[in-house]
Amino acid sequence: MQRIYLDNVATTSVSNEVLTEMLPVFCENFGNPNSLHSVGRDAQALVDNARDRVANLINADRGEIFFTSGGTEGNNWALYGLAMANKSKGNHIITSQIEHHSVLDMCKRLEKNGFEVTYLPVDKNGLVDISMLLHYISQKTILVSIMAANNEVGTIQNLKTISKICHEKNVLFHTDAVQALGNFRIDVKDLEIDAMTISAHKIHGPKGVGALFVKKGIKIEGLIAGGEQERGKRGGTLNTAGIVGFGKACEIVMNNHIVDGKKIKYLRDYFISQVAEQIENVTINGHPHQRIASLASISFDCVDGEALMYLLDLAEICVSTGSACSSGSHEISHVLLAMGRTPEEAQSTVRFSFDVNNTKEEIDYVVKELKKSVEKLRTISPLKLTKKKV
Ligand SMILES: *Cc1c(COP(=O)(O)O)cnc(C)c1O
Repeated sequence: MQRIYLDNVATTSVSNEVLTEMLPVFCENFGNPNSLHSVGRDAQALVDNARDRVANLINADRGEIFFTSGGTEGNNWALYGLAMANKSKGNHIITSQIEHHSVLDMCKRLEKNGFEVTYLPVDKNGLVDISMLLHYISQKTILVSIMAANNEVGTIQNLKTISKICHEKNVLFHTDAVQALGNFRIDVKDLEIDAMTISAHKIHGPKGVGALFVKKGIKIEGLIAGGEQERGKRGGTLNTAGIVGFGKACEIVMNNHIVDGKKIKYLRDYFISQVAEQIENVTINGHPHQRIASLASISFDCVDGEALMYLLDLAEICVSTGSACSSGSHEISHVLLAMGRTPEEAQSTVRFSFDVNNTKEEIDYVVKELKKSVEKLRTISPLKLTKKKV
């Protein structure tokens, strides 16, 4: 049997249409977009077209899109670049406890370099506490960075409320929208976003390419020095094929996301209903409805999530514990802990993430294997199962 891939939050496959547009860029249209001759200009035209497609998906202008090597660089750059460009105004940054490590680790680094960072708590559903934002935002605050949708539990933040508060206080608002892109429409003008990180490989584009949106007029320092690429803000020869693929992936999302989104939500909800019906003592994590449609984070009482993941892997089913980045390191999910789960509960959690290519038949098979594996692990668990209502 073919493997069943339910880890689309970690990465997605490159779609055929994306690959088809990318292939000629390797050997035929291989030019350096910064070269002034015709081969270079041809490559530049491809990059321009991709920039328009990316901008179009988020309702930005093409001059507001800076290509990067992906979400991690985008987040690193936004935090570093906006902090540096505004350090004469203040040294305080606000973020949340449930951000991706590419935000949190850059915040730690900034703290070592004279910045003060407040990590806002979240409620049991993973929503940032707005009253805490209002409490901590001050004259010294220069930047607020809150993710659009969380990659472990899927909770979608109240972006408009947050951006309104920031702008009333004259503070910049950055959002990590890597997981949100493709799941729901993000209009940077409507949401009044100042800077936003996106990445190609979470939306069926290639790995190693993404973009940082920076609103016109906002000053940002470069992260990567050397070269006049990307209007002098990001050195390095452009990843032309990757950028072309990213552009195509954005165009496909633009055209298909409503239809695809409905199908993915149907599959995800069907999966959750089957799990709830067939397996006892489970908890669905994340906000009950303000949550991206592609993801189901489920805690199974008295089950070690990692052991469950390996049993499913033996049955050719690919899922993940917590986030892809922390699952290799035996670290307890900082997101689930911030949501008030005990370490035991956090470690009993598995993340299933879906895609339009998944089928109902696959889900039936997964639920069957999941039930078997959970029962097996519970019989050997040293923990005692106490009955509770789902
Ligand atoms: C995957 C992910 C990133 C990192 O993006 P890369 O392109 O893999 O570097 C950042 N933030 C979130 C929310 C993600 O899911």
